[in-house]
Amino acid sequence: MKHNGEKRRDPHWNLTYKEYNADEEKLRETLCTIGNGNFGTRGCYEGARISDTHYPGTYIAGVFNKLPSTVHDKVIYNDDFVNCPNWLAVEYKIDKSNYANPFHQKILHYEQNLNMRDAVMSRTIEVQDRLGRITRLESERFADLVDPHFGAIQFKITPVNYSAPISLRSSLDGTVINYGVPRYRNLSNKHLAPIDQGKVDEGIFIYCETNQSHIQIAMVARTTIYSGGKEPKVQHKIASQESFASEVISFDAAKGTTYVLEKIVSIATSRDENTASPIDAARVHLSRATSYGDMIKAHKKAWRELWNMADTRIEGDAFSQKVIRLHTYHLLTTASPNSAGIDAGMPARGLHGEAYRGHIFWDSIYALPFFYQRFPAIARSLLMYRYRRLDAARNYAKENGFEGAMFPWQSSNEGQEETQEIHFNPMSGNWDPDLSRRQRHISIAIFYNVYKYHSYTGDTRFLNEYGAEMMIEIARFWASAAKFRKKDEKYHICGVMGPDEFHEKYPGKPDEEGGVNDNAYTNVMVVWIMERAIEILDELSAEAKNALAEKIAFDNNEKEKWHHISQHMYVSVTKDGIVEQFSGYMKLKELDWNHYRKKYDDIYRMDRILKAEDDSPDRYKVAKQADMLMLFYVLDTSEVIRLLGQLGYEVKDRKAFLAENYEYYVNRTSHGSTLSKVAHAAIARDMANKDETWKWFYEALESDIYDTQGGTTVEGIHSAVMGGTITIISRVFAGIAFRSGNIRVKPALPKHWKRLSFKLYIRNRLYTFDITHENVSVGVDTDSDNATIVQLYKNGKS
Ligand code: BGC
Repeated sequence: MKHNGEKRRDPHWNLTYKEYNADEEKLRETLCTIGNGNFGTRGCYEGARISDTHYPGTYIAGVFNKLPSTVHDKVIYNDDFVNCPNWLAVEYKIDKSNYANPFHQKILHYEQNLNMRDAVMSRTIEVQDRLGRITRLESERFADLVDPHFGAIQFKITPVNYSAPISLRSSLDGTVINYGVPRYRNLSNKHLAPIDQGKVDEGIFIYCETNQSHIQIAMVARTTIYSGGKEPKVQHKIASQESFASEVISFDAAKGTTYVLEKIVSIATSRDENTASPIDAARVHLSRATSYGDMIKAHKKAWRELWNMADTRIEGDAFSQKVIRLHTYHLLTTASPNSAGIDAGMPARGLHGEAYRGHIFWDSIYALPFFYQRFPAIARSLLMYRYRRLDAARNYAKENGFEGAMFPWQSSNEGQEETQEIHFNPMSGNWDPDLSRRQRHISIAIFYNVYKYHSYTGDTRFLNEYGAEMMIEIARFWASAAKFRKKDEKYHICGVMGPDEFHEKYPGKPDEEGGVNDNAYTNVMVVWIMERAIEILDELSAEAKNALAEKIAFDNNEKEKWHHISQHMYVSVTKDGIVEQFSGYMKLKELDWNHYRKKYDDIYRMDRILKAEDDSPDRYKVAKQADMLMLFYVLDTSEVIRLLGQLGYEVKDRKAFLAENYEYYVNRTSHGSTLSKVAHAAIARDMANKDETWKWFYEALESDIYDTQGGTTVEGIHSAVMGGTITIISRVFAGIAFRSGNIRVKPALPKHWKRLSFKLYIRNRLYTFDITHENVSVGVDTDSDNATIVQLYKNGKS
């Protein structure tokens, strides 16, 4: 039988599932999420409610709610990313039976598809019930990119071999709770309080409020039905109960006829700009909506324009092509051109799920390059999220006895520290202390992002008005955290955790004395920050400098101190040339990796395993992810070597130094975070080890599409690995570096890739890179003077 929805899909642009698989459903829901930067909605079947198999989550950027929960007699607070009302709900029933669950029937045909180019998710299901009735359901949906307050669904039903009365129920469901992450289920999870619901204008509405942050959320839906281009004879009934409104449309369905329901939903919150009343705003918005057909046309066109800039084309490797598009798509569903009007950061797990409660971490150090090299305005709005919370970071520094601004490890709305104090270990069932807020390197990432944004875009206005202030305040924080010891005449930074995360404190120390001392990544990056802060101050125009000095007075002594720190920071390197991850690391025990590999199927989370065995990762040389090696991802290798030289460690043989440090740490890392793979791919490139680079890149590609960490993608995408893989392509495979205003192109294409092309936007010029094994071509789209020098390398030669 021919299915209307069945087209030949271009595998490079479509993520297609041809069979229903209950076990994989939640993963597919994450991967088929639609979003427009304002909200994201998981790719759940329209008729499904929260269950073990389905999870209809909708998340609106910046909508958090903080509730207390009691765990072991202790009250803890979590600021959750609120699962907002489910606007997807469309159910069907035949004659007098109950609303059907097609997955409980015999599935004759199934196809779920995410068309990434159009940003439309669709599904076709053909099922046969116990009475032999065959029903075909075809649906598609999108989160409008043109007007980010709209979501829309088209739901078609065809009684294939019977005629009968059919009812379609289209609902807005505010009874939802946060139930997406099993580990959080015993914590408070009811965030929505009803205000009102029912009939409004030509449809239904639901109006509710988060019960602590008091963010009002309004959704208004207009549902229409037609068949063969005409409105069939139908009966409409609107019903509502607390937190739930629905419209039931009943009609006599004729065998073989397709009935098309279109549901356009307008979503507004009290966080929207210039919105005094979200319900009024949502109504007015909906009254201006055109037809589903016109809306989807404009939406697709807007996505084509995004893709025109965002796309990376890879010839010769269909899998990499598809996954890189998937990563690009999900970054743009999380932050889009619509983000400019929204005060929200880049959640580590997208607008796709509830893991890490939608919080914003350092992950943007991986994700932001995608934006500032292609969509500077989006990057800017993500940085403005941090700027708006600079005062909170100043307070946080002060509370902890520091100067300047110290950003929280986990951030949501207020800009306060949102890292939980205890966290659940699913391996042991215990709630263990969580010291991860000591990852002060979050402030390194923010400084770095601001600096890089400015160097790529040349956005001096941003630098003058916001960027310099953030960077200076962060530099101040680090200058106050680095303590000079007379004994060795060096600066030391104590009580911090590195990106590794497994080492929370020295073995046996109380939690209050958490953190380790002189984490190499932190110390070297702080030296880099000190240098860049001086550079920024020197480069500011007199006017900008005066304006800044009026706000946050500074003097030359401060600059001198920064300079002193940059020359005297402590870093420990063993006599074998291994940079010690932190002071005392080399004294830790070696882990018996073979023992744990034999004992457990998956040892990514060695921390959980060791803690469940009443042991602690603090005692071992075991890292969750790249820590010291992270330096080589963030900075150029030559820069790392220069900084080490400045601190007293001369690298004599660069190749050997890299290889030995890599070998040392990679053998002691469990890669419990997907981020690790991206960092390792980058350093392997610098060792000119193509096989190793490819191995890590490929593992990073596989991590979300196949959920290789065993259940983490189900709870949301990993925006860092998505951004990181795109960066690996431009930085490693295309070999593009932008330094001192010049662009260098030194490709190292994977052997089987035939061609690689993409665009980058650097300093207001659009560059098109087209790379094959034989040729490198760089197009520059500018009328202005071409001051940028593009240096091309072929076979390693300039
Ligand atoms: C990683 C962190 C990351 C966080 C959020 C953790 O598993 O170790 O580096 O920031 O996830 O993605």
